[in-house]
Amino acid sequence: MRMAFDRREFVKIFSAACSMLGLQATAQSTSQTQDTVPRTMAHAVWAGGRATKTRPNVVAIQTKPFSWIDEGIDTVLDNLQQKGAVNTVYSYTYDTDPNRIHKNGRLPGHGKFAPDGLRTGGGYFDYDPKFFLDTNIKEFRSFDDGEFNVISDVAPKMKARDMDYFALDFNNPFPVMMKTIPGYVEVAEVDIDGLRTTVPCYNHPSYRAFLLGKIEVYLKQYSEHVDGIMWSAENMGPFDNMIGGDWAMIGVSCFCHYCREKAKDRGISVERAKEGYRRLQYLFRPGPKMGQRPPDGYFATFWRTLLEYPEILSWQKLWMDSYTELRSELYGAAKSIAPEKPFGFHIQQNVTFSPFYSAGEDFAQLAKFSDFLKVATYNNAGGPRMGRLVERLADTVFRDTDSAKLLPVYYDMMGYHEATVPEITLNGLTSEYVVSAAKRIMADVGDNTKIYPGIDIGVPTSATGEKKTHADDVRKAVTAAWGTGVPGIALSRDYSEMELESLAAAGEATRAFLSKRG
Ligand SMILES: [Zn+2]
Repeated sequence: MRMAFDRREFVKIFSAACSMLGLQATAQSTSQTQDTVPRTMAHAVWAGGRATKTRPNVVAIQTKPFSWIDEGIDTVLDNLQQKGAVNTVYSYTYDTDPNRIHKNGRLPGHGKFAPDGLRTGGGYFDYDPKFFLDTNIKEFRSFDDGEFNVISDVAPKMKARDMDYFALDFNNPFPVMMKTIPGYVEVAEVDIDGLRTTVPCYNHPSYRAFLLGKIEVYLKQYSEHVDGIMWSAENMGPFDNMIGGDWAMIGVSCFCHYCREKAKDRGISVERAKEGYRRLQYLFRPGPKMGQRPPDGYFATFWRTLLEYPEILSWQKLWMDSYTELRSELYGAAKSIAPEKPFGFHIQQNVTFSPFYSAGEDFAQLAKFSDFLKVATYNNAGGPRMGRLVERLADTVFRDTDSAKLLPVYYDMMGYHEATVPEITLNGLTSEYVVSAAKRIMADVGDNTKIYPGIDIGVPTSATGEKKTHADDVRKAVTAAWGTGVPGIALSRDYSEMELESLAAAGEATRAFLSKRG
């Protein structure tokens, strides 16, 4: 009772204070009140009262923690600013990707080969443990680069150059994290057979608290240094994983305790969902297509399975909703602490390839809880990536046909006009792909968020003979992207992979375009 009275008193006092200051209780306010009234602030955000400040003509670039060490912070910043015309750095602060160029690879004219030994990943910054009281993931400081602090060692040098420092919180699931970060295994998704996977579950409260804790660190502990956040996590739900392709994880999941509880609330039968997925796995099993084709054909049998087991799509929706819910929660938390700082998301390239993943990732919805969306539209690496996805579609849902016959229909569905699968695999996609994808997404979001297409500069292609990005490709893609009317671009994937000549081509194209636009 006493508590209830105090809270009522607090609301009265707060309302009175607001009215004295000429503010409405739901209005944007100063950071001093935000910590005490996060719900009110979140409501203000949802009500459309965004206070985000974004610089015009964002030219962002993604930079790995080791680049600062290998080349020196000033040298990197000189290259980014002078060659690339970069004004915003998405600096990997939390990085789960162990990939580096090794001694048998080829450096792009700068940087160093990876040292021998395991790269653990984790957070490349120091943090106050008080932000991680509600999670079992407490020890995630990476010492891959010694005591180097990728926030406090780098951000001040960027401020001096009038560049913005964005924390790139990169949560893509890589198996190494399960070995190197205590607590990760406990929050992992559980697959259809009850096995832990190497992907953390968004419905696990401990994992959510960990993700939230990092946002608080960036915006509270490093409030002087961090100008904004780009949050990234590339993974997919059970249906998309079953189709496969570059972003698929092993295992149809998640069937952990928390996901099962959530399913129970929605009235979805766990056992029927599992049975439905087992039937699809059997229908699309590897082997000769024609030899195992059902009498009514693959597609009709696929559709019949969905009719018999609507739990298949219900479980997929459960996963996607959880992913969306998590991102909106992180956005709301960030806005309650620092409403003026842009908070956005990296969106994986599969959204531009797969009609199924695209259907689930609703941009109109994402626009409600993002200040910007950096969409991976890597045209060169996109060729083989799209080719592999079309092959997977022709091996699963459209198994009655083959990829060559499917391709024209696929292009019509997705609005692309590119070459044959063997050709796009070898030569990549044109800059028209970037234009088409960017325009479609901009039409989805209207003025509710900003779209920054990701420009391919040396994104690795996997097989021998597949084309590498040339400076001229970069020039075309950058010019094409700006031509769609986007308010910014993001040079991708990582500075450490980019030829300096290509980076300079991006900068020249940007300067040429912006000088005309004025
Ligand atoms: Zn789960």
